[in-house]
Amino acid sequence: MKHTVASLISQARQCGLPSLEARLLLEHVSAISRTRQAAWPEAEVSATTAERFQVLTNRRAAGEPVAYLVGTREFFSLELEVSPAVLIPRPETELLVELALERLPLDQPRRALDLGTGSGAIPVSLRKHRPQLAMYAIDISNDALEVAARNAERHSTPILFARSNWYTELADERFDLIISNPPYIAAGDAHLNEGDLRFEPAGALSDGADGMLHIRQIVAGAATHLRPGGWLLFEHGYDQAETSRHLLNQAGFQAVCSWRDLAGIERVSGGRLP
Ligand code: GLN
Repeated sequence: MKHTVASLISQARQCGLPSLEARLLLEHVSAISRTRQAAWPEAEVSATTAERFQVLTNRRAAGEPVAYLVGTREFFSLELEVSPAVLIPRPETELLVELALERLPLDQPRRALDLGTGSGAIPVSLRKHRPQLAMYAIDISNDALEVAARNAERHSTPILFARSNWYTELADERFDLIISNPPYIAAGDAHLNEGDLRFEPAGALSDGADGMLHIRQIVAGAATHLRPGGWLLFEHGYDQAETSRHLLNQAGFQAVCSWRDLAGIERVSGGRLP
């Protein structure tokens, strides 16, 4: 049987895939770009490629995230490697990166630390835009650190990686900025059983408790790892902004504030050490 771009896309759509996802999967197996697929739907596709496409289509229809199937995801206009060892970078987290960049002057050397780096999306983006930045990143997962190191390599962004449980391995290092997208989903939250989250590392999503366990630790330890005037910025759940601000105020931070994501949800909170 002869396969064309159009016939394969239409098959995948019958399996319930949106056409963007179908085109991403076809691009991955055939190296026919999405632009080319659109311009030339009657292009013939080999039987081997068609078979590989159908395997991915079925896996996608069974719920596997597109990002894991193709092995990459775009974040802050950078193509990043992802694997089931890391959380798939989300658009909301770009807000966190933007807020950090606003606090890192372009022409001055600064030291920044990313806690729970996962794919390395945050430090790679920061270092890409701040070539003078001394960027440190930790994660508790060696598998995640390997992915993050490859992303740093891919984008030529030197980053110092270490395996650490939050601050434990950081001795008395101090930074101008501490940033984190920690696991903040509460245990038993229904979202954990929906969509991509079912396939992502549980330890990157949830703290197995009330959702604030890691945020409390991150805020509590920040003062001893920030230089005077340094900023702590972290992402949190849709209903955690008020508690986060309270924790920051209690820990002696100033200019405590929460910022809304594109959906209008308070998604990032932070403050500055006096
Ligand atoms: N924002 C992600 C979600 O709700 C969770 C990421 C995280 O726990 N840091 O899908």
